[in-house]
Amino acid sequence: MVGLVFVSHSAKLAEGVKEIAEQMTRGRGMIAGVGGIDDPENPFGTDPVKVKAAIESVYSDDGVLVLMDLGSALLSAEMALELLGPEQAKHIKLCAAPFVEGAVAAAVQASIGASLADVMNEALNALAPKQEQLPPATIIGSTVESRQVPAGFAPETIKQILTILNPKGLHARPAADFVNTASRYPATITVTKGTKTADAKSINQMTTLGAALGDQIVVRASGPQARQAVAALKALAESEFGEQGERNPPVTSEATALAGDTLEDIQGAMAGIPASPGIAVGPMVHYRSRMPEVETRKVQDPQREIEKFQAALSLAKKELEQLKNQAAQKIGTKEAAIFDAQKMFLDDPALRDASKEKILTRQCNAASAWREAIDAMTQKYRELEDLYLHERATDVIDVGRRVLRHLIDHDLPPLTFDRPVILFAKELTPSDTVQLNPDNVLAICTALGGGTSHSTIVARALGIPAITGLGEDILTWPENEIIAADGTRGRVWPHPTQTQLAELNALRDKWITQQHQAKRLAQAPASTMGPNPRTIEVVANIGGPHDTKSALDHGAEGVGLFRTEFLFLGRPQPPSEAEQFQAYCQVADAMQTRPLVIRTLDVGADKVVPCLDMAAETNPFLGLRGIRYCLAHPQIFKTQLRAILKAGTGHNIKMMFPMISTPEEFDAAKAILDEVAQELKTAGTSFDENMEVGLMIEVPSAVAVADQLAGRADFFSIGSNDLTQYLMGADRGNRQVNHLVNALNPAVLRMVAQTTRAARKAEIRVGICGELAGNPLAAPVLIGLGLDELSMSAPNIPGVKTAIRHCTVPQAEKMAQTVLNFETAQQVETYLKKEIALNHPLH
Ligand code: PEP
Ligand code: MG
Repeated sequence: MVGLVFVSHSAKLAEGVKEIAEQMTRGRGMIAGVGGIDDPENPFGTDPVKVKAAIESVYSDDGVLVLMDLGSALLSAEMALELLGPEQAKHIKLCAAPFVEGAVAAAVQASIGASLADVMNEALNALAPKQEQLPPATIIGSTVESRQVPAGFAPETIKQILTILNPKGLHARPAADFVNTASRYPATITVTKGTKTADAKSINQMTTLGAALGDQIVVRASGPQARQAVAALKALAESEFGEQGERNPPVTSEATALAGDTLEDIQGAMAGIPASPGIAVGPMVHYRSRMPEVETRKVQDPQREIEKFQAALSLAKKELEQLKNQAAQKIGTKEAAIFDAQKMFLDDPALRDASKEKILTRQCNAASAWREAIDAMTQKYRELEDLYLHERATDVIDVGRRVLRHLIDHDLPPLTFDRPVILFAKELTPSDTVQLNPDNVLAICTALGGGTSHSTIVARALGIPAITGLGEDILTWPENEIIAADGTRGRVWPHPTQTQLAELNALRDKWITQQHQAKRLAQAPASTMGPNPRTIEVVANIGGPHDTKSALDHGAEGVGLFRTEFLFLGRPQPPSEAEQFQAYCQVADAMQTRPLVIRTLDVGADKVVPCLDMAAETNPFLGLRGIRYCLAHPQIFKTQLRAILKAGTGHNIKMMFPMISTPEEFDAAKAILDEVAQELKTAGTSFDENMEVGLMIEVPSAVAVADQLAGRADFFSIGSNDLTQYLMGADRGNRQVNHLVNALNPAVLRMVAQTTRAARKAEIRVGICGELAGNPLAAPVLIGLGLDELSMSAPNIPGVKTAIRHCTVPQAEKMAQTVLNFETAQQVETYLKKEIALNHPLH
């Protein structure tokens, strides 16, 4: 008789399903239920060893069918098969059937002595009775390829019903992942939810489906690689779009709860939506931004208008790329991904093609066509009931405005203030919010919006209290009145009395003190647990002097990467030696005795710096990038080297060359440096004669000859962003190959291991400054591989320090060795999530 195993994250659920199945067959089956893990504090999960034992308990050569509930249960079942070995595994089938209905159907079929194939088929079709009873527009459940395809679809159409399991549903990030995945396949793919159908390659159509937690969507694919596309989308949905366990960020934090409790008693407040915690008292100012008016004009040459439109889209895309890099430094890489999602709007056929069609058919100007497409899309989002998706309208407006700025003359009022203020606006876009300086924007109050917009995510990351949804009346409040705002409770006091102000100010002080206490924890160095702890240096990536405060506030122990190309942006001429010297000294002064690693100019490819002479290249990513540009432009290089060497006097500055591919290149750069040092010496100028000089490992050839480079350099810093792109041969900005650009890929991790070994042997320090360093999940692996230093955008520092403090060196080494033997980044990620949850439930 075929045996059955039901694998669930919950021991109770596994037992319950087993009980129902046994009831149906009056105990005539060979059934095992297995679920949960041996951790009293966090019992939910699945354990491959337990799954193996359960399979063995019902195993016979007739076979075993295994049903699993969610995501990682499948991984555990797959691992169990590996543990059992190929001989037994060939008699075992893992089945995608619905967990409860499938279990019952399989049990009944197995109990009558059916074959493994028949039992599996029965389980896979277990939803048919329910589907027949419900009207087609609300079909619920999973379907299989063997089922009849709906009328109107070619026979080769693959259909799959997916359940949305992540808490916020198909919001921007998961929808972007969905579109990215779908776009990798040539197949035509549509997604239906209820009566709405979307093109799976359109970000806007996908998000406006409004798929929320628990909703089911029908994916239909036809044409080349349809089957692979559906399988990939299914895997993505089952992995909960990488958001397992994520919940809406709580607006009330430990640090603010106390203040919030007392505020309830203060009278005279008007209520809004709490969007970012904290209390502020100060003068209010209005920020009045709007979509620009666009007049519709007939054009003589629509083709020319389309070219203008394309150019505007490209410029907007470049700006978003730059904004994302800047935002990553300011608010963290995860939050900065908001701008990646916005970039996808620019490629979205629902906006781009609709605009082009209007230009062609109506012979109208690009600005009016784009504005119309944006308005229609904004309206669609606004009509959605799901609050989270409703708020995506602001992202559409943000992107819309960005493109329009390149089509018509339109400037926005500046968002800088010469004194601390409370900012009032109808609504703020993410691009607006990311520009704000928390030192003089005490709080944000908006008429529209909820608690889940991308702008509020940015406000939270910046630590600016925010209240949204206050209604349009606030737009008429007189400027400069002293008001009070509480982002924790979503309250604003338009006319606080002196007594109320005193009380609110006291609460604000208390809130600030609590915040400082939390930050103090991040200020301490991070060492691993256990008998022989290892201290890992955690430092920040910065783009200029303005980033040092945030770096130190977040607990940076220095700067591991100063991306000096940011000093060259937004100006007509490159910065002079004096200007650079001043910027380097300013950062070094802020760091006091902490180390500061200044990377020499890294331009080329996606890092376009308009004030530099950069010729167009056919293949710029493989062209004059990083150190190659500097070697080809020695005057620009020498100016920078002089400024860095001079700033080294009295400061703890190190220098680092980017994109070194060969020892020869390092030698050439070093020779120019020696020449500059000699010139300074001759001129009697003071400079740091013993400055350490390191290099970035971000090209695979550098890894291959890391031993030769290690003999020349004082330290290595691994640039995992570029290393991943060049190793995988996949452009880090091209969403078609985005699935390959994952630094957790074992191929990349092996490169990190090889680099670290070479550094160890030569007894030089080795750090990492790509995004991998800021991922708390990767921290144990990086420690286990032997890295001395992790450098990341400031907001990631506290999380990474916590991750370091929660693992022992032997655990980290074991995890590092394990992941080097996996085959995919997904396996690495799943394993690390599980290990971290098992060993130290900190996430
Ligand atoms: C990297 O490539 O990992 C890196 C840190 O450099 P950048 O992201 O500035 O290219
Ligand atoms: Mg790089």
